[in-house]
Amino acid sequence: MLQLILFGPPGAGKGTQAQALVEHFKFVHLSTGDLLRAEIAAQTALGLEAKRFIDAGELVPDETVIGMIRILLDRIDTVPGVIYDGFPRTVAQAKELDKMLTSCKEGITALLSLEVPHDELVKRLLLRGESSGRTDDTDIATIENRISVYEAKTQPLIDYYTQLGKYHPIAGVGTIQEISQRLISDVDKL
Ligand code: AMP
Repeated sequence: MLQLILFGPPGAGKGTQAQALVEHFKFVHLSTGDLLRAEIAAQTALGLEAKRFIDAGELVPDETVIGMIRILLDRIDTVPGVIYDGFPRTVAQAKELDKMLTSCKEGITALLSLEVPHDELVKRLLLRGESSGRTDDTDIATIENRISVYEAKTQPLIDYYTQLGKYHPIAGVGTIQEISQRLISDVDKL
């Protein structure tokens, strides 16, 4: 089973491109951001706790997101592949994911990393904030903080997966269809 991490900074287009890969390959899509927003909408204790971090542009604690992924992975049966979107976001999460997958004789196939320049990210996030109403996409200071948190805590995953020979950089600029095509042809070769 293919186990793919769709990786990149906030605004790189991970959610949009995950949808394209799901439609094309019938993969299962696991987005920790979507799962957390569903918890917030349902006003669960986990959601209320997570909202404080999300609104500040900070990461939700590792144990919370690892717990959510663990529950979902236990439920996944035979599918052509899984796409992780927005997870892992720290080296601790990556190590925990490796352990979970090893215990069911699986492993990460590739880290598909969408590479987008900083100014383009800010432009896209502000635009998305206007249409989606996502509170973490409307304030420039929160957006800049999310990008800084990405650089400090998430970007080191590139080294982690490079050492494992699994890092696949993909140009994340151009039209949505052009980027999807790049991703699809990369996945076709796996
Ligand atoms: P996203 O939709 O992936 O941009 O996630 C929105 C927000 O949810 C992030 O800015 C974090 O606050 C939180 N979040 C999502 N996934 C994770 C994760 N794997 N680890 C920690 N926080 C996360």
